Amino acid sequence: MSNGVNTDGRSATRREERARIEAGAGFLPPGGVAGDVRGVALVTGASSGIGAATARRLAAEGYRVICAARRFDRVHELAADIDGVAVECDVTDADDVAILATYVGARLDLLVNNAGGAVGSEPLASADFDAWTTMYATNVLGAGRVTSALLPALRAAEGTVIFITSTAAEAAYEGGAGYNAAKAGERMLAGALRLELCGERVRVCEIAPGMVHTDEFSLVRFHGDQAKADAVYAGVPDPLVADDIADAVAWVATRPAHVNIDRLVVRPVAQAANHKVHRAT
Ligand code: NAP
Repeated sequence: MSNGVNTDGRSATRREERARIEAGAGFLPPGGVAGDVRGVALVTGASSGIGAATARRLAAEGYRVICAARRFDRVHELAADIDGVAVECDVTDADDVAILATYVGARLDLLVNNAGGAVGSEPLASADFDAWTTMYATNVLGAGRVTSALLPALRAAEGTVIFITSTAAEAAYEGGAGYNAAKAGERMLAGALRLELCGERVRVCEIAPGMVHTDEFSLVRFHGDQAKADAVYAGVPDPLVADDIADAVAWVATRPAHVNIDRLVVRPVAQAANHKVHRAT
């Protein structure tokens, strides 16, 4: 058993949490948070990489963090470590997102739309459109659905929404069309929402990371081919790591309430543009 979690414990906890969720318990009582808690934050895709690092960092900044992802065992362990809460949620599933909103309850101070990623790198001539559908469903529809469902709670708390897009939204690259399109689409959610909420005190922000060396991003993109995934970062001195983006999220979220960071593009020094990467090999 580690962090009070084993296979049996995990399923018992999962049942318990589901029951709480379905009973409409809410994460914290309506009307605010207790003690010295900075607020409640929800991070989607918190089971690995940038999302997990962001959940840890926000907890260190004083947020109570709701950690959501499809892999419940992972978010459960993370939540146990940071005194947060784990929710199993596929952002492409309307029922899951509705339950997530029930669980969040009446107020949410910070939403980090991080769940997403790339699938495949084929040129358009041989595009795998099922993979494109997955990328659109996760990065665009998922972020849209979660944001829409949680908007009442964000409005109630005068909260902040951060979309984790990508420099893939900045410029196209060969083999990137499906991901370029998905992340450019997600960027448009941030832009439209900021206009729609003008006059209210909800901040809408975007962080567009460049090359971040996480364990799974390229592995997922290349369908589990570790050699191809490793080649992405080969010889690059100091690609970004997940904590660098978590740091950016914490900075954006903790600006004074009247300051909206519309878009923050973050790359490693070795990457001057999507195509211009220095490799010391
Ligand atoms: P990662 O480790 O592969 O993380 C992706 C996360 O998204 C996982 O926690 C995954 O959790 C979750 N996810 C995927 N599909 C989901 C779904 N349908 N419902 C709920 N959660 C889902 O990759 P990462 O590097 O941390 O990337 C995080 C975000 O940053 C992504 O949006 C990615 O596009 C963006 N980004 C990454 C880079 C980079 O170079 N790494 C650069 C720019 C932008 P489950 O599988 O457990 O659901």
